[in-house]
Amino acid sequence: MTQIQLVEVGARDGLQNEKVAVSTEAKLAFINRMIDAGIKRLEATSFVNPKLVPQMADAAEVMAGVPRDRGVSYIGLVLNKKGFDRAIEAGVDEVGCVVVASDTFGQKNQGQTIEDSIRVWHELSRAAAERGVKASLTVSAAFGCPFEGEVPLARVRDIVEACMKSPGVDLAVADTIGVGVPSQVTEMLRALKPLARDVPLRVHFHNTRNTGIANVAAAIAEGVTYVDASIGGIGGCPFAPRATGNVPTEDVLYMLQRMGIETGIDLERVIEAANWIETQLGKTVPGMVSKAGGFPAPAAKAA
Ligand code: MG
Repeated sequence: MTQIQLVEVGARDGLQNEKVAVSTEAKLAFINRMIDAGIKRLEATSFVNPKLVPQMADAAEVMAGVPRDRGVSYIGLVLNKKGFDRAIEAGVDEVGCVVVASDTFGQKNQGQTIEDSIRVWHELSRAAAERGVKASLTVSAAFGCPFEGEVPLARVRDIVEACMKSPGVDLAVADTIGVGVPSQVTEMLRALKPLARDVPLRVHFHNTRNTGIANVAAAIAEGVTYVDASIGGIGGCPFAPRATGNVPTEDVLYMLQRMGIETGIDLERVIEAANWIETQLGKTVPGMVSKAGGFPAPAAKAA
């Protein structure tokens, strides 16, 4: 049976763009609900400039409060050595690093050109290895840039090739602004697989134009086994105009379950967590399965 690992990004990518200040306690309650649902690897927070992303200012407090006895790997997003040092100090299991596929987006998102971000990746992946911490890598804006438009596949290939000189635990391509379509996913993954060699590929899709779930299906068809998703489909990017949430965990999970693909995650509990985060944010989440429910309904399954 095929196995997929869902990487839960709701506590970081999901919350970072929310205008409502979410308390550290609520973030920890959210993370505990993820773990209760069976999630084993999650983005807990990011170690970025708190002036630019105030929602993540409590990164160290969040890491200090997460349960450490439940077999969960906690990812802290870092964009430079300063963030890396804070993440290590806070005790993350994994640093999530980001190279950009567009100079303009890179400068707005993290003050780095493509070249800068590749250099920083080599520096951080080496530093992580020295500390015995895992490092994962995401190529952001790989499917399109909010400022420059189309991102040529050849450029993504070159970036991946350069980054593979310091291979991480996995390598993700991210559709930061949700412009990708399944045929593009297929083409990109086929081009990158030979470059990634034995480093597993991960995908990170935003559902801004409703192609996110189809893109996940296309990625799985190409043999990708790591998929980022956020409970409720919350999220966005503060530096990418009009970008909306990640693919909703419960929607991806529903699809995978009905396809006979194992994740070890409990759909009903994820739906409960999606309903709960709605009450915290005071708004309806974009995900659909938290509203429609799974199928068959739990009562019909028992009958
Ligand atoms: Mg994202």
